[in-house]
Amino acid sequence: MVGGDPEDAVAEGGGGGGGGLRSVLTMGSLVDPSGNEVLFLMLMFYICFGSPSSSSLVSSLCFLYTVRFPEIEGKIIGLYFAANWYPKCEAFTPVLAAAYQQLKERGAGFEVVLVSCDEDRPSFERFHRTMPWPAVPFGDLRCKKRLSERFQVEGIPRLVVLDPDGEVVHPDAADLVHRYGDRAFPFTAARVAELEADDQRKYAAQTLEKLFSIHGRGYVNGGGEQVPVSSLVGKTVGLYFSAHRCAPCIKFTAKLAAIYGTLKGKAVDFEIVYIPMDKEEDGYQRSCSDMPWLALPYDGAPSRELARYFDVREIPTLVVVGPDGKTVTRDGRNLVNLYFDMAFPFTDAQIRLLQEAEDEAAKGYPQSLRHLGHRHELSIVSNKSGGGPYICCECEEQGLGWAYQCIACGYEIHLRCGRNAEGGSAGTG
Ligand SMILES: [Zn+2]
Ligand SMILES: [Zn+2]
Repeated sequence: MVGGDPEDAVAEGGGGGGGGLRSVLTMGSLVDPSGNEVLFLMLMFYICFGSPSSSSLVSSLCFLYTVRFPEIEGKIIGLYFAANWYPKCEAFTPVLAAAYQQLKERGAGFEVVLVSCDEDRPSFERFHRTMPWPAVPFGDLRCKKRLSERFQVEGIPRLVVLDPDGEVVHPDAADLVHRYGDRAFPFTAARVAELEADDQRKYAAQTLEKLFSIHGRGYVNGGGEQVPVSSLVGKTVGLYFSAHRCAPCIKFTAKLAAIYGTLKGKAVDFEIVYIPMDKEEDGYQRSCSDMPWLALPYDGAPSRELARYFDVREIPTLVVVGPDGKTVTRDGRNLVNLYFDMAFPFTDAQIRLLQEAEDEAAKGYPQSLRHLGHRHELSIVSNKSGGGPYICCECEEQGLGWAYQCIACGYEIHLRCGRNAEGGSAGTG
């Protein structure tokens, strides 16, 4: 761990007594995760006589009554904007909760307040029960609106970090928490710079053995046996972050398995290790039975440390490590989708070769065509003429660079998918 005492920031700001926070957090009360009763009296306390159905009346009919709120005063506050219906929030909440618990145990002055974007009370209550921190009451629309406007919240999840004086320390620390967990505290620019420098040093000294030692193992599982990590050294190794209960993973696993088989047939030095993101062992076991490659042993929880190390944000993710133990790419999934087994060994040089070959091949395709799946004429586009990363509307896989595009609708397909349909042939696989 790098120097710099994270508690310093709290100590410095603690004298303010929450005066600045008062101007930010003007909610009347908070609710705790265990129930819907109003539990915390915070900073300002409204007694409202307005019609409950008219939130605009509320603001004009409030008596303000100030109380102290020791749970929050003097602390770094994370305002957590989230909603239970949004999968990214569902995924981020346990990550934030883990960091929160660790910070509590360390005695770091950190508190989180949920600002829910849920649309109905039962959803809010269900969601809030999964969290160990207080929330702005569901009915306090005025407060939620004010906070959203003040911090210009457009996307969720969003974690606005405030210092004890109510000044913004970080406009959105969700990424930092994903990446560094409790180590991100106190979320200052100086702390971020330290963590990033630390990462650079680690990446430069990375070896396969060091990577697996993150989980304290010198071996991986393969066909019921323990395979020493040392036997993988010198190979190109794909670290496959995936989970059983994940539809995109199931789809990608099948594709990767086919490519793995092809590469094995070519006898190249390539291996894949499944890095489990499963929440339950049962899912892990099922994933293992679907995969013809090696697997990291299951430790009773998702392999968060490795995911964090590689900054894995979504699954499936395929990180490729080269024969020298250094990271070749974290974008293996896209490269497999785009180039299949031809992507191997996933290096920049290989990808450049493939792109040049695509440019060459594109010359053989018609400039425009009528595709069976779309009512308008499609025109050929490339990176240089308005193309970019896309999802093919025909095969639903990623595409990059060359495409047939409908300018009017944004309908876009791979050249190969367009050609198949043009020729009237059946499959586009
Ligand atoms: Zn396609
Ligand atoms: Zn169209």
